[in-house]
Amino acid sequence: MPNGSGRPSGGAPSGGPARRPSGPGGRPQRPAGRFAGRRNFSRRRVCRYCAEPKLSIDYKDAKALRPFLSERGKIVPRRLSGACAKHQRQISTAVKRARVLAIIPFSTVSLD
Ligand SMILES: [Zn+2]
Repeated sequence: MPNGSGRPSGGAPSGGPARRPSGPGGRPQRPAGRFAGRRNFSRRRVCRYCAEPKLSIDYKDAKALRPFLSERGKIVPRRLSGACAKHQRQISTAVKRARVLAIIPFSTVSLD
């Protein structure tokens, strides 16, 4: 073992303050990783159901639930759907309900 005891001091590049994601918002910054750069989704900042309180999440309305489903019928995650936590929960419940009622398919097999 070449590196047995004693930490090598000066291994890390010293010369600046420790990188700490503490912005004014207190929001932890995500490291630019796999999803760096937005994909083809429209960047909707606000949850559409929060923006319009008149809209209600209806499990009988397949058309309203469509944007929250992927091509294969899976529920789109929140970071892509843009819904807030509260409404995403309601959406997922509505989608599951609609699936049971055969309004929405559980899965779609694309014959391609
Ligand atoms: Zn919302």
